[in-house]
Amino acid sequence: VELVYEANLALAANGLIKWTSGNASGRDPDTGLIVIKPSGVRYSALRSKDMVILDLDGHIVSSNEMRPSTDAASHLYIYNNALDVGAVIHTHSTYATAWAAVGRAIPPVLSSIADVFGGPIPCGRYQPTVGSRIGEEVLRVRGRSPAVLMKNHGVFCAAKDVSTTLRAAVMVEEVAQIVWISAQLGHAEVLSTEEIDRYFAYYQGAYGQGSNSGNAREAAP
Ligand SMILES: [Zn+2]
Repeated sequence: VELVYEANLALAANGLIKWTSGNASGRDPDTGLIVIKPSGVRYSALRSKDMVILDLDGHIVSSNEMRPSTDAASHLYIYNNALDVGAVIHTHSTYATAWAAVGRAIPPVLSSIADVFGGPIPCGRYQPTVGSRIGEEVLRVRGRSPAVLMKNHGVFCAAKDVSTTLRAAVMVEEVAQIVWISAQLGHAEVLSTEEIDRYFAYYQGAYGQGSNSGNAREAAP
C-alpha cells in the first residue's frame, strides 16, 4: 500500500498529473490483491489510508469509504491477463499526451528509448474510458514496451513493479518532449533494429543485476 501511495505522490511530484487526473495501482505479490488510488481525490489531499484494495474481480476488500479510480476496470483487465505486470500507471502527461492526441507512436530515435521501451512507444486505437476496453488495447499493442499511448486520451504504463512502471511514466514524458523538439530541428533517424535490441538487452540485463538507478543507461555501450 505504501509503495503505491508513494507512486501516486511521485506522479504529482514529477509534474505528470494535474488535479485528479491519472492514477497508479500495484499488485501485492503475496496476496495477489490490487492497491489503487481512490476516485476523484486530489494528490495534495491523498493519504495512505485512502488507498483502495480490490480483488481481481473488482470487489472492494478494504477502503476508507472511498470508491476506486474510475480506471480500475482497465487496470484489473491488465492484471488479470498479464501475469508479468505488477503495477499500472495512467497519466495525461503533456508531451506524451500530445502524441496520443494525434494517434502517433513515438519513434525510437534515441538510445534511451531503445533502453527502456525496446522500440517505438506504440499508440493504441481510441477506446472509450468506461469499462476495460483500454486495458485490452494496452495489452494488444504493448509488445515489450512498458508504456503505451492511447489515442485521444493519454499514457498507460504497465511493468513488473512499481518503480519500473514509475520510471516508464517519467521517461515516456521526457522522450516525448525531446522527440517533439528534435522534429523542429530536422529529421531524426530511427535506430536500427539491431542497435535497439542491443540497447534493450543491455539495459534490462543491467537492471536485472540489481542496479537501481539511472546509471545503467550511462554505462550502456
Ligand atoms: Zn485518463
